[in-house]
Amino acid sequence: MAAKTDYYELLGVRRDASAGDIKKAYRKLAMKLHPDKNPDDKVAEAKFKEVSEAYEVLSDQNKRSKYDQYGHDGLKSSFGPGGFDFSRDFTHESDLQDILGSLFGGGGGGGGIFDMFGGGGGRARASRNGPQKGSDMRFDLEIDFEESVFGSERDLKFPVGVECTGCKGSGAAKGSSKETCKHCGGNGEVIAGGGFFQVRQTCPVCGGAGSVIRNPCKKCGGSGRGKETKHMSLKIPAGVETGSRLRLTGKGEGGARGGPAGDLYVVLHAKQHKLFERRGDDLFCEVPVPYETAVLGGQVDVPTIDGFAKVKLSPGTESGKMLRLRGKGIPNVEGHGRGDIHVRITPEVPVKLSKAQKVALADFVKHQSEANYPVRNKFKEEAELFFERKKSLRKK
Ligand SMILES: [Zn+2]
Ligand SMILES: [Zn+2]
Repeated sequence: MAAKTDYYELLGVRRDASAGDIKKAYRKLAMKLHPDKNPDDKVAEAKFKEVSEAYEVLSDQNKRSKYDQYGHDGLKSSFGPGGFDFSRDFTHESDLQDILGSLFGGGGGGGGIFDMFGGGGGRARASRNGPQKGSDMRFDLEIDFEESVFGSERDLKFPVGVECTGCKGSGAAKGSSKETCKHCGGNGEVIAGGGFFQVRQTCPVCGGAGSVIRNPCKKCGGSGRGKETKHMSLKIPAGVETGSRLRLTGKGEGGARGGPAGDLYVVLHAKQHKLFERRGDDLFCEVPVPYETAVLGGQVDVPTIDGFAKVKLSPGTESGKMLRLRGKGIPNVEGHGRGDIHVRITPEVPVKLSKAQKVALADFVKHQSEANYPVRNKFKEEAELFFERKKSLRKK
């Protein structure tokens, strides 16, 4: 076996790179090399597995320190027999999902789903005939703002790939079975060309499966897979926000040949609210208050997630005044208390005044004084200063 490339070199990072740098480097490479972006490109696929192996090791404190001390030999016990196997030893599926999400634009709302790892890891060459874990799946779920704040329970309904019930996943009709492909001898690959330029190719007869079905199952047409509509109820915890992911172990695609089902990742997208704007666990809310309350002071009702709260305004409250109601915001999804509500006071200028109101206001104006409007006075002073300075400029 050829000497293995240094993991740090593979990811293009320094030996003292931080966990964040390593992740960033891996994301970049995985995005470029992922098989979905490079269909049928064996070089890219091999490279993708190499960098994934490097990431598997360097992102794990324990494995990384073993590797730093003893090199590749130090990791022999970290992976299963035969060394690192992508489909078995790679534990960062969720990182990959992030990457895939951005690759396919899965981040935007809607109820779409897509399979994360096609065909139960069928892409990976390993254990072609053994049990296979089902694919992990992603489900994007749009929820109301209220659900994100208070939590809720949702009934989900979506199609999931499962083993065909007609043939138990073999793809062969009842009474028959798969036969080893004679063309490739079951390897799924054939060697083409001669001399120096031998190239491994996917077997054209069996398409890489290593076996052929002479008598395909009628129900699935030989694919061995079927679709099933799954129903399940999903508990949405209070405090989730857009981008929150709920992992449901074993609720993804069904496995093959007795393998376990994959996991389901529900990615939440909370709708915006008309009154509240969310930032972390804090809420921002603009509250219109009666003009006279802003002038004279008094109590106003401010909405919180617990209902209206009475808030006292001092006399002469200016428009745009910010108030903070501590602990009245969103409950932290991990149970770390609650956020705050930030309130912006906006006095409402009254409209559609009656004659009597106008008379009363004219009476008010008659009694007003300069001292009533310190802001306006200050403004006027500054403007006058500006004009004076303009006049006093010396010009040639
Ligand atoms: Zn079938
Ligand atoms: Zn074949």
